[in-house]
Amino acid sequence: MGYLDSDNKTDITDDQGIHDKINSSIIYSPIFHRIIYISCILCSLFIALGKISNESKNPSFNAYEVLVVLAVLFVIDFFLYRMNYFMSTKVFLIFRLCEIIILELIIAVIANINIMIMPLCAMIFLWETEYILYGSDFIKDNIFTRRIVIIILAVGSCALGVNYREDLIWACFIILHIVMVFGVFTMVDMVVEINDKNEKKIFRLSNEVADIQDANEKLIEYQEKIESINEEINYQRIEMKRTNNELEQVNKEVEAQAEVMKYMSSTFSVKKCIDVLTDSIIEMRQPKLCAIYTAPDDFIDKYGNITIKTNYTSIERRLKEDAGDIFNSVKEHKNTRIYVKNELEQFAFIGNANINSVALFPLIEDDNAYGFMIVASDREDFFDKGIAYYEGCIAEFNISVKNSRLYLMMQDMAHKDGLTHINNRMYFMQLFETAVNNAKKEKTPISVALYDIDKFKSVNDTYGHLAGDEVIKMVASIGAKYAEENDGFVGRYGGEEFLIVFPDKDKKQALSILEAMHEEIKNTVVRYEEYNININVCIGLTSYPEICNEPALLINRADMAMYYGKEHGRGRLVIDSPEIAQEE
Ligand code: GH3
Ligand code: MG
Ligand code: MG
Repeated sequence: MGYLDSDNKTDITDDQGIHDKINSSIIYSPIFHRIIYISCILCSLFIALGKISNESKNPSFNAYEVLVVLAVLFVIDFFLYRMNYFMSTKVFLIFRLCEIIILELIIAVIANINIMIMPLCAMIFLWETEYILYGSDFIKDNIFTRRIVIIILAVGSCALGVNYREDLIWACFIILHIVMVFGVFTMVDMVVEINDKNEKKIFRLSNEVADIQDANEKLIEYQEKIESINEEINYQRIEMKRTNNELEQVNKEVEAQAEVMKYMSSTFSVKKCIDVLTDSIIEMRQPKLCAIYTAPDDFIDKYGNITIKTNYTSIERRLKEDAGDIFNSVKEHKNTRIYVKNELEQFAFIGNANINSVALFPLIEDDNAYGFMIVASDREDFFDKGIAYYEGCIAEFNISVKNSRLYLMMQDMAHKDGLTHINNRMYFMQLFETAVNNAKKEKTPISVALYDIDKFKSVNDTYGHLAGDEVIKMVASIGAKYAEENDGFVGRYGGEEFLIVFPDKDKKQALSILEAMHEEIKNTVVRYEEYNININVCIGLTSYPEICNEPALLINRADMAMYYGKEHGRGRLVIDSPEIAQEE
């Protein structure tokens, strides 16, 4: 067995068709069988009726008997076929063998009736071919055995037939048998050869089919691999997209942080920094609450401050009340903490609001907490991704607060007098110029008073310079208090001379303030060591535009009024007038 190289598919299909035709027409066609049967029966019928001449001289021949035998065989064949007994190979083969034997017997005894022999021989030919091939599975041994059976039957038939034939007719009978047997064998060989060819082709085809199946399996395998790679790629694509989004978010945050940093480094107003920072955090991370608390501080905010950004008004109100307590706890632990679930109970300000996580960040400068930032969300996992962003913001904020404090301290030093901590002369003059320009522009009044401690030299002489300093400080602080309470400002003009200015206040308003101030200075006793020191001041008051309509002369005129008071008994509050100005 092997491949047939020159064949192509069309040939295979044709040969397969031939094979099928042979199988169906010779072996399985009952119509073909019946035609032969019927022709044999008709033939014997015609002979029996005497329609065809009977050449037989054999007295044993009886056409009616042949007719009956054939008819019986035909009926049995018909019924066995109809009742599906031929489905069993054994039944079929035995029946065919019986038929062949009977037919051989008939042709052996019918001697010279040639017209009868022809269809009977055709039938024997067909039955023998069927007998050899049917159910043989084309196995050589099976075919060989069945051939031997056929040869034995043919020899038997010849031996019997010779007795019934005269002259040389017996030789013709033997030749007929030889031709028939060879015809059957040739037919069988042809079918076997076609079958072999087909088997080879079927083998080749099945090999090809196996190859195609192999290739198909490989293709499916590749397809599966490609699908899994595809899935992997898709997964990676989603991952990349997610990472990209995260990067974009980080980028946005960095940009926003850079903006906030830029802003914070450009201003020394801590309050504004807090505003910008909390807004930025709310925009970037969208927590439900962001608040920054700073404790009272001389430079940043005298009274302390809390800035709260939230949509929950109840939280805002309660957090304002609780801020001091939270700050006290922050001062103790001084590290960042995240609170979820039961831990949230300690924050009374949450109330019934939908808050499920809170982060508390201390604001630390030189190892001391000066405030805190609190961020809260409705999501419990809000801080799971880390708090680096907030800590970064706080680090920047701390730097900014430190810078602001340094700046404010330096500014304070530049503006304030070292002994009294009220405005020094230079800064006072700046404030004064601004206030005067404003008054001129807005056409509003402005009152100016100059006051000087009476007989201060004798304080120094009697109690010493340090005692004198304490007296100066007392007078300055009372002046600062009245200035602050009345939206004015005060400055140390000289050694123990002070200027106090009340923008927007006319002579009358200023006078009542100064009277109260004068009274307080007079009545305040400075305790220095074992001494109780009492002093008085002389105050000169002028007012624009009521008394003096030339702003540039205001300080001068106040000085003149004060000097007038010194001249006229000291300890006085003198209001500037044209007469006093004239006197000078
Ligand atoms: P009068 O009533 O006329 O004002 O008399 P007086 O003694 O106050 O005279 P004056 O205003 O001229 O004296 C100012 C004195 O104040 C001179 C100076 O020694 C003293 N003085 C100025 N600055 C300081 C200071 O910072 N500390 C102390 N202890 N004394 C100062
Ligand atoms: Mg004096
Ligand atoms: Mg003086």
